[in-house]
Amino acid sequence: MQVYLGLGSNLESPVEQLRAARAAIAAVNGISETGFSSLYRSPPMGGKEQPDYVNAVMAIETELSPLELLTVTQRIENEQGRVRSERWGARTLDIDILLFGDEVLNLPDLIVPHYGMAGRAFVLYPLFEIAPDLEIPTHGKLADLVSRCPLDGLERLSDVA
Ligand code: ATP
Ligand code: CA
Ligand code: CA
Repeated sequence: MQVYLGLGSNLESPVEQLRAARAAIAAVNGISETGFSSLYRSPPMGGKEQPDYVNAVMAIETELSPLELLTVTQRIENEQGRVRSERWGARTLDIDILLFGDEVLNLPDLIVPHYGMAGRAFVLYPLFEIAPDLEIPTHGKLADLVSRCPLDGLERLSDVA
């Protein structure tokens, strides 16, 4: 299954957090990396006083089920020191499951496509960079979502080697 993950960090060397997360995800049995976007900097959502985020999107192929994948991504968040306090609070690592093939899931712990992705520049622009032809289930063409989404302060940091 072709899956896209949204990665974000705004604590404790965000660029290193994303590098470590990328390596940890790619090392899981049943997951192989098929793409990784540039790194982007974005202002925090919700107007809370906290550092800017570094964001990226990772493409993977996986044999895992959606809930198995969620367990894996939450384990990696925890291993990288994620402390769950408030929603949208500062964090060392956030991994959101953006798309799981073209599946639409409305489980108690897993909503796919990710509920916020259609309006978030820091998701849409990196995703468009690595998968410009995507159709987003229930939302239509990614290119159309991108063209309707203001940058909201998003900046591309660098190309990832
Ligand atoms: P947001 O979801 O708005 O991006 P957040 O990433 O800060 O905010 P979290 O605290 O990381 O939110 O996650 C809250 C819950 O969201 C998790 O416990 C998880 O079960 C649930 N969840 C639902 N759909 C998804 C998804 N597609 N990917 C990751 N988590 C999801
Ligand atoms: Ca998130
Ligand atoms: Ca999350």
